[in-house]
Amino acid sequence: MSKRDYYEILGVAKSATADEIKKAYRKVAMQYHPDRNPGDKTAEEKFKEAAEAYEVLSDTDKKAQYDRYGHAGLSGNGRGGFSGGMNMEDIFSQFGDIFGDDLFGSFFGGGQRSSRGGQRNRGVRGSNLRVKLKLNYEEIAKGVTKNIKVKKYIPCSTCGGSGAKDKGSVQTCSTCGGSGQVRKVQNTFLGQMQTVTTCPACNGEGTTITAKCPACKGEGRVYGEETVSIEIPAGVQEGMQLSISGKGNAGERGGMPGDLIVLIEEEAHPELHREGLNVAFELYLSFTDAVFGTQVEVPTIDGRAKIKIPPGTQSGKIFRLKGKGFPAVNSYSKGDQLIHINIWTPQNVSSEEKTLLEKLKTSPNFKPHPEKSNKNFFDRVREMFS
Ligand SMILES: [Zn+2]
Ligand SMILES: [Zn+2]
Repeated sequence: MSKRDYYEILGVAKSATADEIKKAYRKVAMQYHPDRNPGDKTAEEKFKEAAEAYEVLSDTDKKAQYDRYGHAGLSGNGRGGFSGGMNMEDIFSQFGDIFGDDLFGSFFGGGQRSSRGGQRNRGVRGSNLRVKLKLNYEEIAKGVTKNIKVKKYIPCSTCGGSGAKDKGSVQTCSTCGGSGQVRKVQNTFLGQMQTVTTCPACNGEGTTITAKCPACKGEGRVYGEETVSIEIPAGVQEGMQLSISGKGNAGERGGMPGDLIVLIEEEAHPELHREGLNVAFELYLSFTDAVFGTQVEVPTIDGRAKIKIPPGTQSGKIFRLKGKGFPAVNSYSKGDQLIHINIWTPQNVSSEEKTLLEKLKTSPNFKPHPEKSNKNFFDRVREMFS
């Protein structure tokens, strides 16, 4: 699914002020408001699309991310939010103020309106569920789809989630006549204003249950298991959280399901270690290999790579494999693989080796004489972070 440009959706220029963005959103939202377009799926999609655009463009941080990286800058940023799209409830709860003031508000009954476009409330929303997900370096670097079994509340198949024993045991609420809402007419200086509130007798459900489903004891859900497919974007990090809309616990009596919150854990790599976007490897060279130069194979996130060690390589030197690190989760940048050179000093020597080494001890080439070009440790660190 290709996403439309947020500015295009709201019909504003990139240079639009916060006030202009707000006004533009209200205009679009009013046009596609579910109360004005009952049962119109296209209008509902446009309404949601506008809300998503407004959520981003009204938030300074998100807007900056979006301006710089486009839609890619917002997906899977650990706080979730966009992965599953927005539902109507989110829109009304987050942007209540937009719908709540002046003309717009009184037209739709102010902030009192039911949050689901005139539909009845159904049941009780399910709770969010948290799971941990361990990923190895390769999965993190490339992104991966994981199918995991989640133990959670699922809708009761016996009653189809209603919680009722049979059709006859569901009765229309006598207080609200089944609408789930009660209306009040108030006189204000603007004239008569109608407000709508949730029916207190049935909690907005519109129905009451006289006989409960025996399988779920009237809850409309049972404890079970579901296999959930989770798409992990490339570049996630330990501690990040992804929110998957609607994959948490099922709600009671057909209520909305909660979200599944996935906590990312990194599996330690036997040879590599992560340093932000970079991945580091400690390479140990024998003294002779460092002197003569050699070719070695090093592990990378993605298989092995051959690298050339030039003659005269000093301990502490860092070689860089460009782009062999991790991608950033919310931008197009990519880390490198850093190869830290360590010269191995023998810890035991035979008497023969000792004789050879002692001969070399006084040789002028073996006397350290670091030159300007052999940058010291701090210069190298500075270079790495510049
Ligand atoms: Zn049931
Ligand atoms: Zn009622």
